[in-house]
Amino acid sequence: MRTMSALIAAGMLALGALAGADAAAQSATPTVREITKIAGEVYRFRNNNHFSVFVVTPTCVIATNPINADAARWLKAEMQTRFNQPVEYLVYSHDHADHISGGEVFADTAIIVGHENVKPVIQGGRRPTPPPHVTFSDRMVIELGGTVVELTYVGRNHSDNSLVMRFPREKIAFAVDFIPIKAMAFRDLPDAYMPDWVEAIKRVEAMDFDVFAPGHGPLGNKDDVRNFRVYLEELRAEVLALARQGKTADEVKQAVKMAKYSGWAGYEAMQQLNFEGMYRLVQANRRGN
Ligand SMILES: [Zn+2]
Repeated sequence: MRTMSALIAAGMLALGALAGADAAAQSATPTVREITKIAGEVYRFRNNNHFSVFVVTPTCVIATNPINADAARWLKAEMQTRFNQPVEYLVYSHDHADHISGGEVFADTAIIVGHENVKPVIQGGRRPTPPPHVTFSDRMVIELGGTVVELTYVGRNHSDNSLVMRFPREKIAFAVDFIPIKAMAFRDLPDAYMPDWVEAIKRVEAMDFDVFAPGHGPLGNKDDVRNFRVYLEELRAEVLALARQGKTADEVKQAVKMAKYSGWAGYEAMQQLNFEGMYRLVQANRRGN
């Protein structure tokens, strides 16, 4: 009997790890790290479900989100082995700790760059990463040895400091968390601004790129970017109409279905939370009926 119950317990543990159902199961799962080339000089770095990008110029590397200190140490060693170039710039996509922790790993060689609103959030030890040395408000261009990297602030969205990084030669755009690709938005839209978010995505759509590299999940294209903006607009319109009828948050969650997005990643887990978050946002912004 004892053997049998031990076997069952082991089986349940294995199932839990496979499902990734909770944090304990996640920590038991081996860390997946890889570097893949997107195009030209631009590469993608994966640490489990988090992704950043970097560009290898003839003389140095321009990196983005370190993700966390362990991930950054792995990445730094790999860059040294594969490319033998120092990281001269490290760019933060936005202030959220799950993407920008561990920047100190690159601080020996890198100038850290971020949007001006990112600095006060990081200062005072509020994020486990050093504040940027250089900030910008609207636009910044880094040009090194013929490689151009364009940083643009497109307004508030999933934070008030998210930037878009564009590689004009490869026609790649990188932005984190405010444009999920074929996926629902994160939970109940924490730290979000509406309707600014929709306008921010329209500015991204106006940029010249073929490949969109998000901070989670697979690469996308401009259609994917547009589709997520349409999702946000449709979600907002549905929730706003119900809010104007005096519906409560729970009633909105029951009434809204958005079934055409059922094939998107996170639909089951995030759907109700997205509706709840949008209800909170429209209630905060709307005038009386
Ligand atoms: Zn975020």
